[in-house]
Amino acid sequence: MNMTTILQEILIKRSQQKKRTSPLNYKERLFVLTKSMLTYYEGRAEKKYRKGSVDISKIKCVEVVKSDGVSPCQNKYPFQVVYDANTLYIFAPSAQSRDQWVRNLKEGVMRLPSPMPEKSARRPPPPVPPVEENGNEEEIVVAMYDFEPTEHHDLRLEKGEEYTVIEKNDIHWWKARDKYGKQGYIPSNYVTGKKSNNLDQYEWYSRNLNRSKAEQLLRNEDKEGGFVVRDSSQPGLYTVSLYTKFGGEGSSGIRHYHIKETVTSPKQYYLAEKHLFNSIPEIIEYHRHNAAGLVTRLRYPVTPKKTTAPTTAGFSYEKWEINPSELTFMRELGSGLFGVVRLGKWRAQYKVAIKAIREGAMYEEDFIEEAKVMMKLTHPKLVQLYGVCTQQRPIYIVTEFMEHGCLLNYLRQKRGVLSKDILLTMCQDVCEGMEYLERNSFIHRDLAARNCLVSDSGVVKVSDFGMTRYVLDDQYTSSSGAKFPVKWCPPEVFNYSRFSSKSDVWSFGVLMWEVFTEGKMPFEKSSNYEVVTMVSQGHRLYRPKLACKQVYEMMMMCWQEKPEGRPTFEDLLHTIIDIAEGEDAF
Ligand code: ADP
Repeated sequence: MNMTTILQEILIKRSQQKKRTSPLNYKERLFVLTKSMLTYYEGRAEKKYRKGSVDISKIKCVEVVKSDGVSPCQNKYPFQVVYDANTLYIFAPSAQSRDQWVRNLKEGVMRLPSPMPEKSARRPPPPVPPVEENGNEEEIVVAMYDFEPTEHHDLRLEKGEEYTVIEKNDIHWWKARDKYGKQGYIPSNYVTGKKSNNLDQYEWYSRNLNRSKAEQLLRNEDKEGGFVVRDSSQPGLYTVSLYTKFGGEGSSGIRHYHIKETVTSPKQYYLAEKHLFNSIPEIIEYHRHNAAGLVTRLRYPVTPKKTTAPTTAGFSYEKWEINPSELTFMRELGSGLFGVVRLGKWRAQYKVAIKAIREGAMYEEDFIEEAKVMMKLTHPKLVQLYGVCTQQRPIYIVTEFMEHGCLLNYLRQKRGVLSKDILLTMCQDVCEGMEYLERNSFIHRDLAARNCLVSDSGVVKVSDFGMTRYVLDDQYTSSSGAKFPVKWCPPEVFNYSRFSSKSDVWSFGVLMWEVFTEGKMPFEKSSNYEVVTMVSQGHRLYRPKLACKQVYEMMMMCWQEKPEGRPTFEDLLHTIIDIAEGEDAF
């Protein structure tokens, strides 16, 4: 094997995982080409970790990928390497660099004998044209929400209308065409594939609605045959919750039916009796007219109060810099480490929270760079970063506005009012946001009730993720500093500053404790120093009165001494849904 380096450069690689929706799919990697291998590493040449490699003899095709200059990452020159059944998408910083890589890779491929049983020992020239990333087939999508464009290059969406997707170079903003032929960018989370099984387009479906919330909703509506379809506690399955005033034997007239699946391929679905259907919408349609074993027919779809459109990744395609003259300032909402936060409006219409960064409070340059990545983190349980104003001082950070402010104060104000179900739902909200961060390998580093916010409808969202990295005050960032949040930290953080998604899990356990004590201070009477000693000796927070055994067990799981002993957020989410579900549905 010849190990001499032919080429070496830092390029950007798109993740090969199927989860295309991840905004953090584009990573800088050090690529090294030798005669026999293309290897990529994390880190720089001096300190690198091998992440993967491709045997040159396995490469079937190396080609430039055509793009119209729109790139999902900062490098604008994509090329692809097809090997076995996989494709590597790599983005070079310049046309010259890309040409050099493509040329050298092609030469490498031509030099090596083909592993395939072909007559010629030489590999045939790579097939042209290249497989375009998005394929040529046009995709039709349906808008789930109205979208009002804010920039001329965006396209208006009308709920229920169909659109043709033309380009998906940015995972959050797709280029699309409406039925009049008008083109522009649309937020990809506002549409769903026409042929997809995505149930979001149906008014009867409520994602992330747990059993107790569903019951509350149906009771409030108090309509005979009121129903909702929601995710079941078993992942991938669905439950129909149905309300009847007349059919119930007990006081509660609510029934929960699992939508069952056959084991045949393709799958078929059924509800109460074995009337089989090819899809869930077909079952619902059938039972809207026929009770057929249900306590009553599905008469009336119930939806949570208002289906507010989700936030978008920034206000428009490729827009993170906000013009400060388009902001109006209203009342003060609070102040924190970085400065004062005000309620404001963008373009006199959209309510936003504006944080003015106090001079000397933040590593501004680093944050501005990272803001572009953070804007791409988009989830219903994360406080959305809309953009930044960096051309003046103080700089502003513009985020989604949350009516009820910080979770910690909210819990304290509402003491004695919130039911245990609601407390658990709050934990579920945070867990969903954190599961998204975990999936995207993004570490929060300062998860606590003070860093979560509550919306007007009582939804809790995670805020300030990753922000401690930009705090200039070392009393806050150094584990021996007086303001360091020791009470939320696992031993590997207060001892070695070793942050990970698993250290976030520990903090999540403490946050659950804050929720179930309705906003008490953990280790109330102890100093940071005493907490370090106690926790290191195995001491843990006590069980809050409102926490049942299962909820406390969950907290204790989060506080396992060794990070690898703790559950993931994905595990925790399943556990919460199980607890919320209580007894099994029938
Ligand atoms: P910092 O990051 O500078 O410490 P915080 O994010 O904690 O500041 O904000 C300080 C306070 O401002 C919060 O406790 C909350 O009351 C209020 N606040 C911050 N962001 C928002 C928001 N997006 N919507 C509503 N209130 C907010």
